[in-house]
Amino acid sequence: NRHWLLLDRPKGGNFTEVLSLREEPAPVAGEGQFRVRTIHLSLDPTNAVWMQYDSYLPAVPLNSTMRGLVLGVVDQSNHPKFKVGDIVTGMGGWADYTISDGSAFGRVPAIPGLPLTAYMGPLGMTGATAYFGLLDIGRPKAGETVVVSAAAGAVGSLVGQIAKIKGCRAVGIAGSDEKCAWLTGELGYDAAINYKAKGWQKALKAAVPDGIDIYFENVGGDITEAALSLLNVKGRIPFCGAISQYNATEPPPGPRNLSVLVSRRARMEGFLVLDYNSRLGEMYAEMGPWVAEGRIKWKVDLDQGLENTLTSFAKLFTGGNTGKLVVQVSEE
Ligand code: NDP
Repeated sequence: NRHWLLLDRPKGGNFTEVLSLREEPAPVAGEGQFRVRTIHLSLDPTNAVWMQYDSYLPAVPLNSTMRGLVLGVVDQSNHPKFKVGDIVTGMGGWADYTISDGSAFGRVPAIPGLPLTAYMGPLGMTGATAYFGLLDIGRPKAGETVVVSAAAGAVGSLVGQIAKIKGCRAVGIAGSDEKCAWLTGELGYDAAINYKAKGWQKALKAAVPDGIDIYFENVGGDITEAALSLLNVKGRIPFCGAISQYNATEPPPGPRNLSVLVSRRARMEGFLVLDYNSRLGEMYAEMGPWVAEGRIKWKVDLDQGLENTLTSFAKLFTGGNTGKLVVQVSEE
């Protein structure tokens, strides 16, 4: 059982210095437990938070296996509800195997014709984040303008497409011309802005002639300020994340124009996908057909090998990934 041990709290994104790949005999499922062989390991920006401090989940204890969302197959079971061969997803580790009592795992719904990676992407935690964040927190109405940051990433690439299905104008902000071309050329975004290009704030303004009704926040910093300045009266900001700040060594400055929320009578609301666990059925019912029919396009950025996890993980913070970042740990 290869597993990544967290030896220290990272500072400034020095993940390679604080995580070490170890090997030990595979764990064995005890009474009432089952064992999951990891097929896919989800790499998520929030993993950097779990390494550092207590937030909505406790920090990963030092000298223990790094926590991660996994999709795998049950290969040993002493549990009444899970049998060998079940495909499950849930909270496991950056490891070949996870032992579970069933509380943090569920079976994936079997939608014919879809690869397993779909349950790490549009029909997994990522899809639920985009779906509930936009629809439940953002409450879009047809004809409104939705702007999404980290738009070519896992969550962002879905948000704009759901917005389009709901009759909105979708504008993405992403870190390269290639990503922007993918958003407008393949995913159906109406416009996409490269925030690393000179004059991007002007380009954003030009791309939202009727202002911004919903800004789906993934990033923080300058991009938040630019979106706030263009926010309409009664605008909504589903606050999904702030990746630009997860490796900060100093508390980041707040948006300088936050008081815009007053004059625009706008609402900014944080949310956690974990709170929607009991409503995943709604997401499967609506997103399932969109994905199966190809109305929602999606991409998994699939890297190979548990031993390469840290090289993959770094991509989240340099913009190296397009779509959902996943490590293939073993064969299906
Ligand atoms: P992504 O696949 O979007 O990967 C992260 C992307 O963020 C990178 O590809 C990069 O793209 C962009 N990025 C990285 N650093 C910066 C920076 N300094 N400034 C601007 N952009 C940056 O990850 P996810 O889709 O998994 O996550 C997106 C956001 O959603 C994160 O903030 C995450 O924490 C949050 N999240 C929240 C959940 C919740 O329950 N609230 C659940 C899941 C995710 P680029 O090339 O465009 O820079």
